[in-house]
Amino acid sequence: MPILDEKVDLLYDAIVRRNPGEPEFHQAVHGVLDSLGAVLAKESRLARDRMIERLCEPERQIIFRVPWQNDRGEVQLNRGFQVEFSSALGPYKGGLRFHPSVNLGIVKFLGFTQVFKNALTGMPIGGAKGGADFDPKGKSDGEVMRFCQSFMTELYRHLGEHTDVPAGDIGVGERELGYLFGQYKRITNRYESGVLTGKGPAWGGSLVRKEATGFGAVFFAERMLEARGQTLDGKTCVVSGSGNVALHAIQKLHDRGARVVACSDSDGVVHDRDGLDLALLFQVKEDERGRVSDYAERRGERARFTRSGDVWSIPCDIAMPCATQNELNARDAATLIQNGCALVVEGANMPVTPEGVARLLEAGVAFGPGKAANAGGVATSALEMQQNASRDSWSFEHTEGRLAAIMGNIHRTCFETAEALGVPGNYVVGANVAGFLRVARAMLALGVI
Ligand code: NDP
Repeated sequence: MPILDEKVDLLYDAIVRRNPGEPEFHQAVHGVLDSLGAVLAKESRLARDRMIERLCEPERQIIFRVPWQNDRGEVQLNRGFQVEFSSALGPYKGGLRFHPSVNLGIVKFLGFTQVFKNALTGMPIGGAKGGADFDPKGKSDGEVMRFCQSFMTELYRHLGEHTDVPAGDIGVGERELGYLFGQYKRITNRYESGVLTGKGPAWGGSLVRKEATGFGAVFFAERMLEARGQTLDGKTCVVSGSGNVALHAIQKLHDRGARVVACSDSDGVVHDRDGLDLALLFQVKEDERGRVSDYAERRGERARFTRSGDVWSIPCDIAMPCATQNELNARDAATLIQNGCALVVEGANMPVTPEGVARLLEAGVAFGPGKAANAGGVATSALEMQQNASRDSWSFEHTEGRLAAIMGNIHRTCFETAEALGVPGNYVVGANVAGFLRVARAMLALGVI
């Protein structure tokens, strides 16, 4: 990791001691603190009022038992989490992740990141994240439903449209949100649409929410290219993952005339030299809940599936990591640079390691951090909350237009903040400083909270 300013370094050491055994959380904190030296020197009140320590301490952390029965009637046990990080700007807001790797440190890293991301959108939303170490993969619909019902039976008491409004993340899509919303409605006897976002359009969801994170990341990439006098048209791209974010990033890249030649899942990588067949990919992944190996098999000669390969060794102009944290390291970055990649945009949360980011920036590769680039999902969640509050539903075109405008604003904020700090083109510093200042100034105005 890069060296922190001396004073900030001491603060960071104290935060690590206070939160032992949470490497992803430490990494996320380090990533933000690393950008803040100049700002803290300029605004002495931020240090005096212990803004960093307060921001690194969640307002509330909830850990709970989730018992449920599988199809054979056997009792299963999982652990649920909800970390309500900051409500300085609005109700807690962030997704739920169901994946066996989920633990408190992972949820804290995601919640911490969410605070700054949400601030960057300029919308009135605080930051949170939750989830469970439950693996929906290989489970029947009935098992997923019983798990979601048990999970919500505890979580509901912490939620509310003005309190905490979760959405989806890894392993939580429209199906899971439906079961969660159904149980919330039963327990509370309230049709409180604004308590969850990412709902199906037939029951209070917003059009474009499903597409928003992937589309938004591509809109952000477009603005980055524009700042360099380029467009997406004709560019060769690789995308990691093949879930919600990856699929919709691939779709929008394709719409913009780029050629996406590879994507992946945790089993391996599919390389399709002529460009992925969108209709087939969506059919396999969305309609059939299949794997990229199934796509490759159906595509025949044209596509090659490599088990446990990685997408970063495939030559490209643009790389978009859209699967999970720490999936692109310094070695991968070096390979991308060697192959002429000029733009890396994070669709996932913290997918590029700190060493990977440093390598890319040193080589002059344009780098869009997830905090800014993948904020389109939560921004559209906030648009869903607006529609729920006014009992309205907007057209696809209108909502997509709002999303594109928000991503344009986030890009401008990061770009101009970096320029003002004397690090032009450094979107990492731009995003961290702009997000931090918005939350910190609100906290100062609200007293000692
Ligand atoms: P999905 O569950 O829809 O898809 C996740 C994809 O990533 C799958 O292809 C999955 O493969 C792969 N993946 C997950 N974990 C691993 C792992 N440990 N190793 C290798 N591959 C893995 O999730 P999303 O698309 O919603 O989320 C992807 C990323 O985007 C996450 O970092 C999330 O936090 C972030 N994000 C999501 C938002 C949203 O609106 N959904 C908003 C902002 C950020 P497999 O099926 O094999 O597990």
